[in-house]
Amino acid sequence: MNRLNNTFATHPATQPLYLSAPDAVTLVRRLGLKNCITGIVVHIRADFLRWLDFDKSARVANHSQDGVIELMPISDDTAYSFKYVNGHPKNTAIGLSTVMAFGVLADVATGAPTLVSELTLTTAMRTAATSALAAQTLARPNSRVMALIGNGAQSEFQAIAFQHLLGIDTLRLFDIDPQATAKLVANLSSSGLKLQVCASTAEAVKGADIVTTVTADKACATIVSADMLAPGMHINAVGGDCPGKTELAAGVLAAAKVFVEFTPQTRVEGDIQQMPADFAVTELWEVLSGTRTGRDNDDQITVFDSVGFALEDFSALRFMHEAALAQGLGERLALIPHMADPKNLFGTLLQTTVKPALRQGSSAVCA
Ligand code: NAD
Repeated sequence: MNRLNNTFATHPATQPLYLSAPDAVTLVRRLGLKNCITGIVVHIRADFLRWLDFDKSARVANHSQDGVIELMPISDDTAYSFKYVNGHPKNTAIGLSTVMAFGVLADVATGAPTLVSELTLTTAMRTAATSALAAQTLARPNSRVMALIGNGAQSEFQAIAFQHLLGIDTLRLFDIDPQATAKLVANLSSSGLKLQVCASTAEAVKGADIVTTVTADKACATIVSADMLAPGMHINAVGGDCPGKTELAAGVLAAAKVFVEFTPQTRVEGDIQQMPADFAVTELWEVLSGTRTGRDNDDQITVFDSVGFALEDFSALRFMHEAALAQGLGERLALIPHMADPKNLFGTLLQTTVKPALRQGSSAVCA
């Protein structure tokens, strides 16, 4: 073997598919948002049903004064994924999103990355998909009215998921920023949902079957308090997802049966961080698999204390990967040097030409 004969990225295993943010938008427009969220729900449900197959850990979070940056890894015997995601509630004031993300899927057998993807749009879809899956499992089946508190980037995705997967027909909206609510109303004006703008959280919550809180504030906020509760309500608490960042009063949790994704992570990050370390919770996968009961009766208050777990991103990445390949979207990324002699990394420095990334579908690349 000629140790000087090195090239970059001519082996498929060294060229993961790259799905950019514009590619992801094209994909969702082609397939339809409702179908993408539904497809992600199918993947999340299937993966939650094989919960014990996964090597799970709480995410690694680096906190700073105004935000957090997190890494979320997970794997089974064949695939590995991680997500990089931030949470900076003050970002919108300077024209940046509160939540920005990207991630990787990789082959466990070799460690070769198979997908490098945007995950900002995908996170909104997977969070809505997880919320809807939890509500399908826990809310009263005749729920039609949802209060949606916090009308920022995630909110329309939650609305569409609950409309199509739960049968919600009316949204009662509140945000401390009236422009955010006006944006939501404009975006969903042709959705078929009845949109009722409210003057306060208390007003929005009144008469709601389901309450979704998806606010962003790095504070122990009290968006929903115990006096707002009505029998049978399901609360989908999405925005309390970091130490010192909560949305529900302790009295709400004390009055409810509480469901979580991955208990060790939620005890630190979720609304239940306010409760004693032995506060009783049920993991969503246990209800999906029939191991433990969900809602016990129509009057019970249920809370899904969502923080976002790596398995949901694993499922969403697999959905986006399959869909992108089927649609011929994305391009091959020359991320890893490929060498005729893999021991001759130094030889790549002696090359005079470097090949550019190949487009997906190029005859030199297998999908
Ligand atoms: P965003 O900044 O785009 O929107 C948040 C909205 O909440 C803003 O419009 C803001 O005005 C509003 N708000 C803040 N305080 C409020 C209050 N007291 N009452 C009513 N409205 C209030 O953020 P986003 O991307 O929509 O994310 C929303 C939250 O969801 C964030 O906290 C984020 O960390 C969290 N999140 C959770 C998950 C999960 O899996 N659980 C996933 C993604 C995002």
